[in-house]
Amino acid sequence: MFDWLTDDQRALREMAVTFARKEVEPIANQIDREEKTPDSLTAKAAELGLFGLYTPVEYGGSGADMVSVCLVSEEIAKASPAFAGALTVQMVLCPKTVEILGTDEQKQRMLPASASGERVIAYSQSEPGGAANIPSHLTRLEPDGDGYRLDGSKLFCTQASAQTYLVMCKTKNHAGQEGYGCIIVEAGDEGFEIAPYEHKLGWRGTNTGPISFNNVRIEKDRILGDVLTGGIAHRAANHANVLAHAATSLGCAQGMLDRTLDQVKERKLYGKHMGDLQPVSYWLAESHARLSAGRALLYENARALENGTMEPGMGSVCKGWIGDTAVDICTKLLKLWGGSGIMDSTGVHRYLRDAIAKTVAEGASEMHYAIIANQLIYGKPYLQPPAA
Ligand SMILES: Cc1cc2nc3c(=O)[nH]c(=O)nc-3n(C[C@H](O)[C@H](O)[C@H](O)COP(=O)(O)OP(=O)(O)OC[C@H]3O[C@@H](n4cnc5c(N)ncnc54)[C@H](O)[C@@H]3O)c2cc1C
Repeated sequence: MFDWLTDDQRALREMAVTFARKEVEPIANQIDREEKTPDSLTAKAAELGLFGLYTPVEYGGSGADMVSVCLVSEEIAKASPAFAGALTVQMVLCPKTVEILGTDEQKQRMLPASASGERVIAYSQSEPGGAANIPSHLTRLEPDGDGYRLDGSKLFCTQASAQTYLVMCKTKNHAGQEGYGCIIVEAGDEGFEIAPYEHKLGWRGTNTGPISFNNVRIEKDRILGDVLTGGIAHRAANHANVLAHAATSLGCAQGMLDRTLDQVKERKLYGKHMGDLQPVSYWLAESHARLSAGRALLYENARALENGTMEPGMGSVCKGWIGDTAVDICTKLLKLWGGSGIMDSTGVHRYLRDAIAKTVAEGASEMHYAIIANQLIYGKPYLQPPAA
């Protein structure tokens, strides 16, 4: 299906295949077990320019397109869905948000260092009232002299040990108008605290946890975009990120299928090749069919995003459906491993755990289905249906 790839896209995919096999795969179980990505792997990813893949050339990146981002994310996720997931936040969500909202000075200050991997940027929106339920959010930015003060707390911040945080919060400008903005917080800011991170079911290897702000001074140059709209006006970054995220779900399930195929080809049961047993052969074939469909869906939309022709709600179709399909595939294929699949030694149950985590991070599948349903019913990808 990839006969339309450009030479550059092919070369990037080959680079990702080699990186995944040589550098990521050998330590993928270790990342999961120790819940930590070794600095040496991060340094190698930086050396290959992966953090700056989607950042424009003028800001120190390589300006690759969404198809390339998905190819690279999928290949790395085959080896470690967890590492690939963390990479998309650094590669797509954070730099794209800065690119969309930032002034030239802010972009020059943040993007080259992010592209080189020197500056880790985190994205923080989730709160106890529901990550996407913005009206319930309590973190607030209030005017204070010629600047602002930030108070509140956030949950589930991935890369909670970053140097820089993009914080979405309720805002008030100096004229008293209210909105939802995007604020830059630096790790050393007085009043900013990172709570101990939580142990996770899946997507381990990144430290996801709560962060809080107690009267943190925010100068005007720390406001990204319009103070009243920045928290919403970068939605194109979320749309790009859900595709990259879907690519990691696809790679996750493909990685599970590849390992399961190796196991099935090796193993004999009742004097037969395992692959000759039902439902083994059926599940293998069905997984392959569903992954092929998911791949066609994803890359069609990655191309459409680049051309500006992606239809409303299609990012949610990719994120929701590919994510849930990956969980289903990993659940079935894990059964084909029998007891070995449950043991740590084979390292395959992490695929199922990572697949599940991916259906929640960057918006739960059900939220994405709500967006799709509202697009179908009301002709707009609303998060909530309009009042009757
Ligand atoms: C590994 C991981 C990393 C994360 N990293 C970050 C991060 O870096 N920054 C950040 O801000 N957040 C992060 N999150 C949070 C993530 O974005 C939220 O968990 C996710 O969006 C769901 O929001 P919630 O947890 O508030 O669940 P809730 O909004 O409370 O939803 C609970 C459940 O209700 C259902 N539901 C929710 N909304 C709808 C709807 N509209 N229609 C129908 N059903 C619905 C779903 O089943 C959902 O799972 C991360 C989460 C995980 C698991």
